[in-house]
Parts: sequence; structure tokens; C-alpha cells
Amino acid sequence: MAEVYTGRFAPSPTGLLHAGSLVAALASWLDARTHGGQWLVRIEDVDTPRCVPQADQAILQQLAACGLTPDGPVLWQSQRGAAYAAALQGLLEKGWAYPCGCSRKDIESTQATARHHVTVYPGTCREGLKGKAARAWRLNVQAVQAALGLPAVTHWKDRRLGPQQQNLSQEVGDFVLHRADGLWAYQLAVVVDDAAQGISHVVRGQDLADNTVRQIVLQRALGLPTPEYLHTPLVRGANGEKLSKQNGALALDLQTPETALSALHAAAHVLGLPRVSVQTSVAQALAKWTLLVRSHTGLF
Ligand code: GLU
Repeated sequence: MAEVYTGRFAPSPTGLLHAGSLVAALASWLDARTHGGQWLVRIEDVDTPRCVPQADQAILQQLAACGLTPDGPVLWQSQRGAAYAAALQGLLEKGWAYPCGCSRKDIESTQATARHHVTVYPGTCREGLKGKAARAWRLNVQAVQAALGLPAVTHWKDRRLGPQQQNLSQEVGDFVLHRADGLWAYQLAVVVDDAAQGISHVVRGQDLADNTVRQIVLQRALGLPTPEYLHTPLVRGANGEKLSKQNGALALDLQTPETALSALHAAAHVLGLPRVSVQTSVAQALAKWTLLVRSHTGLF
């Protein structure tokens, strides 16, 4: 039986969609359509202090203004705490997760460098808290890899970027599953939810590619399937930096069909797609006409 394609777009409601996030939204939608699959939307609102009230609804409206409407119910991560807790509990029972009492300062003081913008956790609390209070929970990467016979270097293939690899222990270390501020970590939430929504293909921005090995190892630890990954090109601002809400990317104005179309054109251009031409517009009109004729036979 052919694999059922399920894709998704998973925005964090920390602001409205900008030109960069629309690229990921459009690419994931196009990929789902190309494969005859379904396209879902997940609101990644676990990092509550960074979420902007009503931004989730505004993002859904922005997507709808671009004709990108999900094929199934929208999932809000803020309602998924029980599923994340169950996943962490399972890991704790296997001895694959442990509490950590280190502060950020403790971790930074044990090493001179932070590679890949990730501070490598030196494993201080792996053998026990030694009197410290538990702050966060971490995955014991080496324990998982040893128990499951996984190699230290994880190889994976991105559909656009080609073969990739990472030595998780050396380059990241035991990463956080539940944060010291009481919030669920992105890595755990994304892996649990991709599996719960049956996501077979992840299409997202290239800035997230560096998280993939953490997610693959976590999928193994939780006995969950690994989707195919495709990371889309980043949109850079005038200063050459990637566009993000953090560096002040402007929210897209999608109030009228004209502004929505021009935002879609710009996103399509980043993906190397041609502008919508007269021919494609006519082809779309034809498809629509056919639908009308079929549904209103009495009229025609
Ligand atoms: N919520 C993440 C973001 O908006 C995307 C996560 C993902 O696609 O895996 O950057």
C-alpha cells in the first residue's frame, strides 16, 4: 500500500507570519498537494511567555487569505501537556531521561566554547543530582544510543540539502525535554506531535535543520517513526541576516487578494518557482469552471 502523505506547517504564535514563514507554509502545502496528501497546521504555543495573544487566530486567517487551509483540525501544543508528560515518564522509566539541577551559568562555566549556537551539556547531573534541586529534565543521549545500538554519529538525508550528520553527544549533549521554567521543550513537543498527527513529511525552514538529529534520536527513544525532512531556503533581510520575528521581520500584509498574491509570488520566488502566468491562471479558472459545471448541472 502506498504511504499516506501527511504534511504540516507548525508556526509559533510569537507574532504574525512574515515573508520567511510564508515560504515554509507554502512549500509544505505544495509538497502535500504534489503528493496527493493532506496538510495540517499545528500551533506551537508551548513557549507561552513568547506567545502573543490572538496571534494564533491571526496566523490562521493569514494562511486562509493565501488559500492555505488545513485539511484537518488544528492542534494547539498548549493543550498537549498530558501527552508530553506521558512521553517523559516513559523515558524516565527506561532510565533514558534524568533530572538536572544545573543553572545556565553552571553549564557555561564548565566549558569555553558553545558550538553551533548550542551550549554542549557536559552531563554533570547524569549520575545524580548530588544534593541539587531538579530544575530541568534531559535525555541521556548515550544511554539511548547504547541501548538501541545506534551509532554516535547520526546520518540523515534532507530532501533538499542532501546527506547530513551530527555527533549528538559531542555537538549538543544531553538536551532538555522539560525546561527549568516549567515549560515543555520544543524538541519533545515536536516529536510527540509529529507522531500523534501522523506526519510523514516535515517541510520547514532551514534554520531548524540543526534540530533534526535531536528529533531523530528522540523518535528512536520513544519508538516513533521518523518522517522525511526537507528544509526550505531562508529569506534574508537587507542586512543579509535571516528574517525572523526576533530580528524584526515585518508581518505580512495579506488584507486584500492583491497583497496576498504578491506575498505568495515572493514566497514562490524564494522556492525557485515561476510567477503565476496568464496560462496558469486560465488553467485554474478552467478547473474551477469544471467544478461549477459538475455541482450545478441544472444551471449549465
Ligand atoms: N514552531 C517552529 C517555528 O515556528 C517550527 C517547528 C517545526 O517546524 O518543526 O519556528
